[in-house]
Amino acid sequence: MSNHWCMATRFPSELAAIDRMSASFPFPRRRSIGVRIGNVHVGGDAPIAVQSMTNTDTADVAATAKQVAELARAGSELVRITVNTLDAARAVPRIREKLDMMGVGVPLIGDFHYNGHQLLQDVPAAAQALAKYRINPGNVGFGKKRDTQFASIVELALKYEKPVRIGANWGSLDQSLLASLMDENRARSEPWDAAHVAREALIRSALDSSARAEELGLPRDRIILSCKVSGVQELIAVYRDLAARCDYALHLGLTEAGMGSKGIVASSAALAVLLQEGIGDTIRISLTPEPGQSRTQEVIVAQELLQTMGLRAFTPLVTACPGCGRTTSSFFQELAQTVQRHVRAKMPEWRMKYDGVENLTLAVMGCVVNGPGESRHADIGISLPGTGEAPAAPVFIDGKKAITLRGENIAQEFVGIVEDYVAKKYAARG
Ligand code: SF4
Repeated sequence: MSNHWCMATRFPSELAAIDRMSASFPFPRRRSIGVRIGNVHVGGDAPIAVQSMTNTDTADVAATAKQVAELARAGSELVRITVNTLDAARAVPRIREKLDMMGVGVPLIGDFHYNGHQLLQDVPAAAQALAKYRINPGNVGFGKKRDTQFASIVELALKYEKPVRIGANWGSLDQSLLASLMDENRARSEPWDAAHVAREALIRSALDSSARAEELGLPRDRIILSCKVSGVQELIAVYRDLAARCDYALHLGLTEAGMGSKGIVASSAALAVLLQEGIGDTIRISLTPEPGQSRTQEVIVAQELLQTMGLRAFTPLVTACPGCGRTTSSFFQELAQTVQRHVRAKMPEWRMKYDGVENLTLAVMGCVVNGPGESRHADIGISLPGTGEAPAAPVFIDGKKAITLRGENIAQEFVGIVEDYVAKKYAARG
């Protein structure tokens, strides 16, 4: 396996990090210390975990439990909730209880800013019910209070045996640290540019805080780091540097990625570069949902990013051609959508019944040009007739032409073929 890292430009600490990379990945992966969050492992040799965050008022137990359950059922392996008030903290154990009653065991992460030390102290049941605490070192407190409030959260994490994510964020950078790095920079013979100093402040904020947490007794296998920014190139630069300077498990995410295709593209571009370099142990896609859109979109995007990169398989993906002047009807687009929706809807049931079904590959193609070829590469593919072609749709199974569908019921018949194939090919779980 070739190593894509440029050895000539790397420092000894970076070379050590490269050396620790796991060989079980499709490409070298940065080796990190594994952390257990409830029943989910993050880092080490664990698969890259998908996580998400609710946007309900946490104090609203019913609404928050409902959204957590939706996110978990969509495939979110960890769900973060805001804990910002006493009412929100008191709601946490009730949300946990409600989820357990619904059979949803997904670990809950508490997101704290400014008053986390107080809320965790005042509501021990919340401290116990959460599987991890997220602290933003820029928002723990100010002046002398910052150190004592940070220490209190770490002590509570020790008391309740919870891991902590130290999550620095561009939008809430520790201003006193930034000012002192600016002073240091002015004394350099060749000063860095302002963006470089700001990146260093973000990384140092996370690393200094994790060193402090360790001094307070928190073991390394209970610390996850993140340094989120909203620019793609900045995020890549920050995480490359952070990854080379420590072996903590890393949470990746582009903060404030935005809405719709912009948010999806920006997050995918940034995270794909880092994942390809073996950096990242858990990801969140921070999408702003469009009005009326489900919050689960961010989970689907995260899964599809990992799956299309060949890092994990979650649900069968449908390969479909984009369509062109050779297929002027919308039928093939409708069929591709029907098949993808059917597969997504069936996955909760299939996952329980069949081993390996997430690896199934399907193709829906618009005409004879690439249709048969692409369909042969999939487990099951259908090549629909393009404009002017005979009204027949050959179906290919395991690379061989198996049947030709005609008439009004092609969609239903094709879905039926997929169902039969899944039942025959994938071993029933014991
Ligand atoms: S398979 Fe046919 S319809 Fe689809 S993009 Fe290619 S030429 Fe166009």
